[in-house]
Amino acid sequence: MGRSVSGGCHLRASWLSGKTRPLEYRVAQLEALGRFLDDKKEEILEATELDMGKVRGAGIWGSLNELNVTLNNLCHWMKDEHVDKNLLDSAFIRKDPYGVVLIIAPWNYPIHLFLVPLIGAIAAGNCAIIKPSEISKNTERLVAETLSCYLDNDCFAVVTGGVQETTRLLENKFDYIFFSGSPPVGQIVMTAAAKHLTPVTLELGGKNPCYVSDTCDVTNVARRVAWGRFFNAGQTCIAPDYLLCSVEMQEKLMPALRAAITEFFGPNPQESPDFGRIVNDKHFRRIRALLCSGRVALGGQTDEAERYIAPTVLADVLPSDPAMQEEIFGPVLPIVVIANMDEAIDFINARPRPLVVYAFSCDSKVVNQVLERTSSGGFCGNDTLMHLMLSSLPFGGIGNSGLGKYHGKFTFDTFSHQRGCLHRNMGLETLNTPRYPPYTQQKLGLLTTTFEVKRRGTCTLL
Ligand code: NAD
Repeated sequence: MGRSVSGGCHLRASWLSGKTRPLEYRVAQLEALGRFLDDKKEEILEATELDMGKVRGAGIWGSLNELNVTLNNLCHWMKDEHVDKNLLDSAFIRKDPYGVVLIIAPWNYPIHLFLVPLIGAIAAGNCAIIKPSEISKNTERLVAETLSCYLDNDCFAVVTGGVQETTRLLENKFDYIFFSGSPPVGQIVMTAAAKHLTPVTLELGGKNPCYVSDTCDVTNVARRVAWGRFFNAGQTCIAPDYLLCSVEMQEKLMPALRAAITEFFGPNPQESPDFGRIVNDKHFRRIRALLCSGRVALGGQTDEAERYIAPTVLADVLPSDPAMQEEIFGPVLPIVVIANMDEAIDFINARPRPLVVYAFSCDSKVVNQVLERTSSGGFCGNDTLMHLMLSSLPFGGIGNSGLGKYHGKFTFDTFSHQRGCLHRNMGLETLNTPRYPPYTQQKLGLLTTTFEVKRRGTCTLL
């Protein structure tokens, strides 16, 4: 195990002590997280900038919003849910914490992506071990060195390290594992979890298709797509990964995309304070190698010393080109030409299910058709990334893009076991007589009448 703020073995003892269960404890820890965000605001931004280059606009407000939504609603979410019953007793769903949970985070939004699940884990009454990404090393160091000053060290620990350390960490039995990262590592995590029958949430990645129909406001599409693709230099799991459109739309989009890129990042995006850098040399080289796909219509400049790749649009990309073989996770937007919406839908459905499908059209029937005839973790019509901003929407993948969901109340639910509970009356034993042998026709009739569920709308008289 790598550097650990406070070990980790004692977490199970803390969990068993029941310390994390009371509402007051949960609120106190969540408020401490709020203080962490507030006190360390500048250091967080500095560390993220060192790791990721300039990412103005990302900030910490997303995590703060999740925190506030949780604090505002926690006492309501925690309440037992009373359910329909056909017995004279109390039947309810208890929102039980799982126990000791593990949160493994990626590097692309290194604070937000461990903090949001941690908020839910604490809110639901769990102990937690957090494993930030070793790739965003400045943020990892900051979290490892400072989070313990805010959270209860009996119940929360940060474990640092790379593949080797995480492999060893995963040998332990956890009560829940929440993983964000790539699909191949998701498989490794799920395999390790299966050994202990540990439930998992897998927030994974992949290629998000974006269909642009022939009837749309080209300027608006270009601005919304360019923002979603080039935010954080394209290192966003829900970024539109490639466009599907007709050859005519490709022609119309090119000047509009050029205008949007210049409007956002100026004539030389390398000098823009709002355009990020690629996280490390390995990813820089991987993304640069994708630029041979189709033809470079916009951008294409690179600077290895700075790990800079210009906002780039590739035209006439073929499904067999390198850019279409893997998740791009960089500031490169390939356009694949298709004949019409049906072909776009077939293209999407012939590939692994994405984290999100995007569709642009002035005709809502077209947007609805794409929604209706494809399958993905989420869907956003006529914009990009914005579905993520609503904590009232579940966020998560399906198939290759993941398993489970979070954000807002969904995070609380993810980290809570819905415990079905029946609390019966100790007396009234005569009411139980029909269920005990020896059975008679009369007893069986009574039992059926008591427990039978009738199909609604069926009339037995006619
Ligand atoms: P990654 O899968 O390489 O790493 C994620 C975490 O897993 C890191 O903490 C890392 O230390 C650990 N890890 C890496 N290899 C491991 C191994 N062999 N065994 C055990 N643990 C291992 O992902 P990444 O490169 O950090 O992030 C990029 C990927 O994450 C992209 O695919 C992106 O789409 C996805 N992502 C998804 C979401 C989401 O919410 N769905 C959010 C952000 C990123």
